[in-house]
Amino acid sequence: MELIDGNTIAASLIAELKAEVSSLPGRKPCLALVRVGDDPASVSYVRKKEKTADEIGLVGRIILRPVGTTQQELEQLIDELNADEGVDGILVQSPLPKPLDELAIFRRVSPEKDVDGFHTLNLGKVAQEDDSGFVSCTPAGIMELLARSGVDLKGKHVVVLGRSLIVGKPVALLALQKKTGANGTVTICHSSTRDIGNLTRQADVLIAAIGKPEFVTGDMVKPGAVVIDVGINRVPDATKKTGYRLTGDVHFPSASERADKITPVPGGVGPMTVAMLMKNTVKAYRLRHRTGH
Ligand code: NAP
Repeated sequence: MELIDGNTIAASLIAELKAEVSSLPGRKPCLALVRVGDDPASVSYVRKKEKTADEIGLVGRIILRPVGTTQQELEQLIDELNADEGVDGILVQSPLPKPLDELAIFRRVSPEKDVDGFHTLNLGKVAQEDDSGFVSCTPAGIMELLARSGVDLKGKHVVVLGRSLIVGKPVALLALQKKTGANGTVTICHSSTRDIGNLTRQADVLIAAIGKPEFVTGDMVKPGAVVIDVGINRVPDATKKTGYRLTGDVHFPSASERADKITPVPGGVGPMTVAMLMKNTVKAYRLRHRTGH
């Protein structure tokens, strides 16, 4: 069994981006990071994104708004950031507190600054295999992890657990694309899928993104498969200082006995998501300033 080390792969991507950014003339690319409320996971994600932006030499502009911010106030903020010449990319940390309409906010971000890739236009470009848009960061990170681990999806059966807009659907579309590294045969499972184990056992590549701790057990994995665990779940653990531990959607001890390659949690897909956000920000800057690469 080989561990797919997201930390190491993300570190090389970050080093490449750092070199690229240092060679850019003039103002550095700027990423606006919008967080509404104090959800602990969101606080830590935004902090990590800010730190990575700083490491690469990007400008991270943190914008915090309290719980109770109205839809109209948030839309106004997005409009201001869309119009701000000094901002290249906008990220609105998900999930937004209720009752804010997250999809409406994602659509409000200008497609040219939508480095999270959730705007209708950018999702449509993934379906149309048009590289001029932004691919959402977690699915893009998964594809990069696979490519850099020498996994070619061509002719393989890729089974995706989860059909969210953020992970399941876009990663399924990417795996299906008629492009080098992709060309997979894709099955998508969700909460109404019957006998999931029967499908996962047919997967050459299994991508789990359902948000259910350790859902995928070893007996659900085909011997020799590649397993990508997207899940990040906080499970109560009294032995930890924080009171919780992080676990994926895959039961690592049993799945790693059957898999040929597998990602850990933490240290698998998570770091790649952050790295791809930075890559998208540099791309947004280049598209806006028409500097080729
Ligand atoms: P989500 O929006 O809650 O979607 C979960 C999906 O899983 C839905 O499509 C749901 O089906 C399906 N599902 C739920 N329970 C199921 C079950 N028992 N059997 C089969 N399908 C089931 O979640 P998400 O945003 O995609 O996130 C999924 C996980 O990935 C979470 O743990 C999240 O924290 C993690 N995540 C990690 C990263 C990263 O950077 N590593 C980024 C984003 C998300 P229905 O559609 O039928 O409801």
